Amino acid sequence: MQTSVEFLKGIGSFKAELLRKELHISTYGDLLHYFPYRYIDGTQVQNIQSLQPDQEWVQLKGIIMNFNEHGSGFKKRLTATLYDQTGQLELVWFQGISYVQKNILPNTAYSIFGKLTFFNGFPTITHPEIEAIKPGQNNAAPTMQPAYSVTEKLRSKGLNNRSFAKVTQALLEKIRPGDIYETLPPNILQQYNLCGRYEALSQIHFPQNAMAQQRASHRLKWEELLIAQLKITRANIRNHQQPGYVFGSVGDLFNTFYNDYLPFDLTGAQKRVIKEIRTDTLQGRQMNRLVQGDVGSGKTMVALLSMLIAADNGYQSCMMAPTEILAQQHFQGISDLLKDMPVSIAILTGSVKTKERRRILEGLKEGTIHIVVGTHALVEDKVTFRNLGLAVIDEQHRFGVSQRAKLWQKNTLPPHVLVMTATPIPRTLAMTLYGDLDVSVIDELPPGRKPIHTTHRFDVYRFKIMEFIKYEIEKGRQIYIVYPLIDESDKLDYESLIANYEQVKTYFPDPKYNVAMVHGRQPADEKDRNMQRFVSGEAHILVSTTVIEVGVNVPNASVMLIESAERFGLSQLHQLRGRVGRGSEKSYCILLTGQEISKESRQRMSIMTQTNDGFLIAEEDLKMRGPGDIYGTRQSGALDFKIADIVQDAALVEETKKAAELILSEDPGLTHPNHRMLYQALHHNTQSNTLQWNKIS
Ligand code: ADP
Ligand code: MG
Repeated sequence: MQTSVEFLKGIGSFKAELLRKELHISTYGDLLHYFPYRYIDGTQVQNIQSLQPDQEWVQLKGIIMNFNEHGSGFKKRLTATLYDQTGQLELVWFQGISYVQKNILPNTAYSIFGKLTFFNGFPTITHPEIEAIKPGQNNAAPTMQPAYSVTEKLRSKGLNNRSFAKVTQALLEKIRPGDIYETLPPNILQQYNLCGRYEALSQIHFPQNAMAQQRASHRLKWEELLIAQLKITRANIRNHQQPGYVFGSVGDLFNTFYNDYLPFDLTGAQKRVIKEIRTDTLQGRQMNRLVQGDVGSGKTMVALLSMLIAADNGYQSCMMAPTEILAQQHFQGISDLLKDMPVSIAILTGSVKTKERRRILEGLKEGTIHIVVGTHALVEDKVTFRNLGLAVIDEQHRFGVSQRAKLWQKNTLPPHVLVMTATPIPRTLAMTLYGDLDVSVIDELPPGRKPIHTTHRFDVYRFKIMEFIKYEIEKGRQIYIVYPLIDESDKLDYESLIANYEQVKTYFPDPKYNVAMVHGRQPADEKDRNMQRFVSGEAHILVSTTVIEVGVNVPNASVMLIESAERFGLSQLHQLRGRVGRGSEKSYCILLTGQEISKESRQRMSIMTQTNDGFLIAEEDLKMRGPGDIYGTRQSGALDFKIADIVQDAALVEETKKAAELILSEDPGLTHPNHRMLYQALHHNTQSNTLQWNKIS
């Protein structure tokens, strides 16, 4: 398995280097684990005339003519027409144009394979796989020919799909059953009716039939998910064994606040979650709990009450927020609520001045500060606590994992950890990403919330919308206008934000209208000042980037206008929408887009206008975007599955989780001979892959 692919028939040192660079394939083992992304059934050749929009992958036969170049530079595109007996179809290339022009001959029969799209009712294939049909040969591919995803570069150097398949074929001919060790224990193979690893690996590349392919893929997914679940479950077990502080009693601070200062009744869900936290912190083991709840479900109050329990037991707490603005808001909110209580609160962010900072650092070290709210400034090495008992991490997915790990090092015992999500996380994703944490769900909104009325409008109606906004301002309400900035440091994006701000002001020329702007490029004090103008009610309109996305609370705001809404993901749109509808007035969310948006964007807008349910939206988001793009998880590596897909294979996620729990309950150290290979698989790539998350807390 460690042999270099260089020694395979058809590769050699040049192509070996290319494979390494383009696909990270260096060894036989790598190549064996580079699975086809689909299979071509060579016996199935379609007619162009009978193609339907719902057909995704098609194989055709015909001649290629009418080459045409369009545009230039990066926008360059090559088109050609494929003719068969029944009709014509457009072929498009954006890359490898000169290669195509040189190699495709007129009046020659080709076999074409690719992903079908319809453009203005006309069938099109972009970057098709093309192979000449040799004379006397009817069609080249047998049933279930593997299709590998290869890059344009590999293609242009002669490693196209079919030659790639020949290389894997050559590899498989060299491999004997004994070369492939079995990772799964025999009882698991039997109980779950899984095929052996050798069979799976050979059938995944060249399946005898569709059944064999499915069996192979099922087995490999199963193994992949089982290993991930073993890692997560082990982390979870480790977390539960980690000694922690005992918060033995609920004392005066909690009770006084609860009875005298709590401005509302807790919802049933809030009460339940606080009980869960209470139970966790009584055990003498470290709490690692994730609190999930929809936007506005009142997670902050749960955090505050937990921090009071910590204080009652003589421990300090910290609350980390992802942005300065949010930290400020939490600090102000908590300070107001606790203003008549003997609890000392501080805020520590990057913008706190040296002298004040020194005072705070001193207070944390001495234990005279009980609760500190802050940003990532809290995890700097200089920050030490006398006895940090509880760390609350708000709006988790914005926070770096290593930053949280650092927090742990601030104590002899790790603090209890409460992670709060910004929006709900779909179940399978939670199981995969946060399986090492216990989960609480706040599945109830405070009473009296009116659903936010959401509409999708095209930007040609901007003027009308501004009139509506004026009307709302006349009624005394405030307005958010949010712009998507892909990259706050990008000069062009920044300039367009400023231009938009100026444009908004032209709609409201009367000096009685007050427009403020916040964005990530402003110095912290300027950002604060502008934010404060909006929070205090002085500014009627807040023009902003997504810096306001998480947590900001201005109950008087009744309209959330989202510009270029198609550029936001569903969860982000939902999170933004949650900034309004916090008061008693009717609130509106207007999604503004151009008229020409993709089908997916249209679908997103439609989901947003149909539901206010964050749990449902999270599921839809996962289905539409796939796990990798959500929650910044791509970098984490925790969801880097080769073959499994937590959306499509949700049932397997559950099944392997159960199996992992059972295996570990019987053999926690994986020392049984049957588990030796699992043990190795688990330790083989811990460095590179999966679950740095277990170090979180
Ligand atoms: P999120 O869960 O999105 O962080 P917050 O904690 O910011 O939500 O709470 C949203 C708003 O709801 C705040 O103004 C908060 O004071 C209020 N709130 C929280 N819990 C309750 C409750 N039980 N009854 C009424 N209002 C509540
Ligand atoms: Mg919040």
